[in-house]
Amino acid sequence: MTPLSLKSFQRTLLGWFAQYQRELPWRRDKDPYRIWLSEIMLQQTRAATAIPYYERFLEHFPEVKALAEAPEEHVLRLWAGLGYYSRARNLQKAAREILAKHQGFFPAELSEALALPGIGNYTAAAILSIAYGKKLAVLDGNVARVLARLGAIGGELRVDSRWRQLQKTADTLLDTRAPGDWNQAMMELGATVCTPRSPQCLLCPVNKYCEGRKRGLVGSIPEKRIKRATEEITLAALVFADTKGNTLLLSPPRTLPKSKSRANVAALLSRLWHFPTIQVRRDAAKELQSYVETRLLDGERIAGQLQALKKVRHAVTYRSITLLPYRVDVAELPRVPHDKVLPLADLSAVPISNLTRKVARAALA
Ligand code: SF4
Repeated sequence: MTPLSLKSFQRTLLGWFAQYQRELPWRRDKDPYRIWLSEIMLQQTRAATAIPYYERFLEHFPEVKALAEAPEEHVLRLWAGLGYYSRARNLQKAAREILAKHQGFFPAELSEALALPGIGNYTAAAILSIAYGKKLAVLDGNVARVLARLGAIGGELRVDSRWRQLQKTADTLLDTRAPGDWNQAMMELGATVCTPRSPQCLLCPVNKYCEGRKRGLVGSIPEKRIKRATEEITLAALVFADTKGNTLLLSPPRTLPKSKSRANVAALLSRLWHFPTIQVRRDAAKELQSYVETRLLDGERIAGQLQALKKVRHAVTYRSITLLPYRVDVAELPRVPHDKVLPLADLSAVPISNLTRKVARAALA
């Protein structure tokens, strides 16, 4: 692009963004804490899904100090349903570091931002450009797709050399007079117009600059990534239910157990409160019963019949989970170390994963 057409490209995209950007709560001001929170929530999550979580989170933790000083369980409870809980855990760890080392203000220096848990190149560039006007261009999958189409760049985008090339392109295109708006405009274009499956080239504000469109390559850029083979996992979970409608949940494992299968289970339950759950191989009911009796009840028998419930399906990245839930009705719940007794119909007092929520639903159906 010549300097002249670069200027006109920048003006066109920024003009479009000023007129058509979506009204999103984190765009109301340039508060670094709010922008940081939104950027973390928007990783792996669509804006429409993130909005109610974002607003609820801010009601409880209006600034860094409140987040840093909250019990982790409170943070996870407000995150419950968004998934990828390491984001919430890192968010709080970073808040504690910001309070301890940066007087409660998100650092404006790139090296200091990158040293915080959960902050990578993309997130740092997004926060620092939007909140502090730093001249840093963002590059994530969304922006990379737009750049690849604009420049008719073929091949797998995540290959190191290509990613570096895309970062250079993003740096060259960055409008240094308004880096925050520029980055948001690129992201907005990728999210609303130059979408993965059906880009709306006719409505695109920068279609006259698009090499991919000119050459009829839009449908083949970016090249499809080779998907990792799906791993099938079968789990079984036991839901105790007493006559008052209460159940028991086990506490989040503090460290991931060493054995491979157990490690999978703890991670799949997002290291949150959960029903007794194991990975099973052949006879789910028998293996589950034996696990609960020997590991949780000190060799005592379960005082009731295991009743098989409707299968639960769940997918986490490349893992496809079939969960076989069982319910056992008992006169009195057994006592298990570090458990919590809660109404089966309302487990909202503790943070639970979507998988656990689905099991509870199956037990109530
Ligand atoms: Fe994307 Fe089409 Fe616009 Fe090119 S013209 S940037 S492919 S929406």
